[in-house]
Amino acid sequence: MSTESAASIDAERIQQFAAGVRGVVLQSDDAAYDDARAVRNGLIDRRPALIVQCHGTADVVEAVGFARDHGLLVSIRGGAHNVAGNAVNDGGIVIDLSEMRSVHVDPEHRVARVQGGATWGDVDRETQLWGLAAPGGQVSTTGVAGLTLHGGLGSLHRKYGLALDNLRSVEIVTADGQVRTASESVNPELFWAVRGAGSNFGVVTSFEFALHPVGPEIYQAAPIFSLDDAPAVLRKYRDFCATAPDEFGPQAMFWSVPAVDDFPAELHGMPIVLALVVYSGDPDEGEQLLAPVLDWATPILDLSGRSPWALAQSSFDAFFPFGGYYYWKSLLVGEPSDDLLDAVVEAAADRPSPDAIVNFWQLGGEIERVAPDATAFAQRDAKYLLSLDTSWFDPDSTERCIDWTRRTWAAMQERFATDRPYLNFVGFGEEKEALVRASYGANYDRLVAAKMMYDPGNLFRMNNNIPPRG
Ligand SMILES: Cc1cc2nc3c(=O)[nH]c(=O)nc-3n(C[C@H](O)[C@H](O)[C@H](O)COP(=O)(O)OP(=O)(O)OC[C@H]3O[C@@H](n4cnc5c(N)ncnc54)[C@H](O)[C@@H]3O)c2cc1C
Repeated sequence: MSTESAASIDAERIQQFAAGVRGVVLQSDDAAYDDARAVRNGLIDRRPALIVQCHGTADVVEAVGFARDHGLLVSIRGGAHNVAGNAVNDGGIVIDLSEMRSVHVDPEHRVARVQGGATWGDVDRETQLWGLAAPGGQVSTTGVAGLTLHGGLGSLHRKYGLALDNLRSVEIVTADGQVRTASESVNPELFWAVRGAGSNFGVVTSFEFALHPVGPEIYQAAPIFSLDDAPAVLRKYRDFCATAPDEFGPQAMFWSVPAVDDFPAELHGMPIVLALVVYSGDPDEGEQLLAPVLDWATPILDLSGRSPWALAQSSFDAFFPFGGYYYWKSLLVGEPSDDLLDAVVEAAADRPSPDAIVNFWQLGGEIERVAPDATAFAQRDAKYLLSLDTSWFDPDSTERCIDWTRRTWAAMQERFATDRPYLNFVGFGEEKEALVRASYGANYDRLVAAKMMYDPGNLFRMNNNIPPRG
C-alpha cells in the first residue's frame, strides 16, 4: 500500500480536518507536540506529522477517514506503554486516545464501560468504589487498550482469566470509518478477532468489562530471598503452584533491591528473588493460606501484608518511569523441569542491569479453561510465562541490555524447544510474521480472513501485524 506523508498534504486540507474535530490536531511546530509524541519507552523517538488528540468517537471516525483518504501511516495511542513504540510513527498520523479515559461502573450488573485511552489506574479507581475489579495489569499507568487487546496478565488471571476474557463488548471504529459494536451476538467474528489481535482491526473507543468482587483490601505474601537461595526457592515455588487455588496470583521475580528509601540501605543493589503471591479472596484467609511461602528459605526482608487493592496495583509504578529504557521479551512454557528452573536462575544471575527483572509468572487456572479457538488468543495451555523485563536508565547500557535480552531469549528458545511469545512482551516485535504465527498458531488463518474482511488495506499495521493475505 502506498504511504503518503502528511507533509505532502495541502495545509488547507489539514486545517479543514482540524476544524472538524472536537479535540486538538498537533503538528511539529506546536508547543505541545514534543510531549504528545513521547511514549513511556525512552528508546523511542518518532516524529509523526499529525497527532490527533481525540475527544470522542466522532473524532476517531474523522481521523480514520482522513488517514485512509490520504494513505497515511496510522498509529493508535492508548496508554503508550508498548515497548516497541507502536503508539507513534514517523511521518504519519497518531490517533491519540489519551484524553478519552472515562470509566463508568454499573455496580448492579457488575460491568464497567471504559474508554479506549483509560489506564488500569483509572479502572481500579472507579471500580473499587464498589469493591469490584476487572482483571488487568500490575502497573497502574499501563493502558487498558493495548494490554487487553493482546491478552492481559495480572494478579487475577488465574481466578478470572485474561483481561480479554472479561470483555463483554467493544465499540470499535474500523478502517471503513464505521462505528461497530462487537460482542458474542453482534459482529461475533470481529469480537473473536479483537480478543487477541485487537489493534489489527480498528480503534477501540470503548470496552465493556465484567467485574468481580475484589478488595477493597487484599493480602499478599512478599518475602524477599537472596539469589543464593533461588534454586531451592524456585523448586518450592513450582511445588506450591502445582496445587495453588485460583485465588492465588503467584510470581517469582528476580531483581536487585532498588536503591530507594523504602529498602534498607545495606541491601541496595543486592540480587534477590521476590516471591509475590497475591490472594484475591478474604485477606485474613489469605494470610493463613500464604504463611508457608515465608518458609521457602530465610527471607532477607518481608514485605508481606494487607493492602488496599488499588495500592497493590500501583506499588511497582515508581520502578517503570516515563522515559526509562525498556526492552522486554517473553516465552510461554509448559510444566517446568529442573533444567528450566536452573536456566531461569542462571539468566537471573546474569541480568545486564540491576533494574532488569526476570519474571517467572504462573498462568493456568481460568486462562486454560477457555478453548484455544474461542478467542484469537490461542496460547491457553502454557503453565508459566518467562518474561525478561529488561529495564535500565543509563543510555550507555542500551546496546548491552538489548543484546543480553535477545541472546538470553534465543538461548532459552533453543534449550527448551519453544517459540511461543506473549504478544504484550515482544521487544520491538522484530521477528514480525514469525512472531505472530507462533503466537496465534491454529488461529492465524482465521485472523487473516477476518483482516481481509475488516481491514483489507492494512490501515492498522503499527502492531504485531497480521497482513491481509492468504
Ligand atoms: C511498565 C509496564 C508494565 C506492564 N505490565 C503489564 C502487566 O502487568 N500485564 C500485561 O499483560 N502487560 C503488561 N505490560 C505490557 C503491556 O500490556 C503492553 O505494553 C501494551 O501494549 C500496553 O498497552 P498501552 O495501551 O499502554 O500501549 P500503547 O503503546 O498505547 O498501545 C499498544 C498497542 O495497542 C494499540 N492500541 C492502543 N490503544 C488502542 C485502541 N484504543 N484501539 C486499538 N488499538 C489500540 C497500539 O496501536 C499499539 O499497537 C506492561 C508494560 C509496561 C511498559
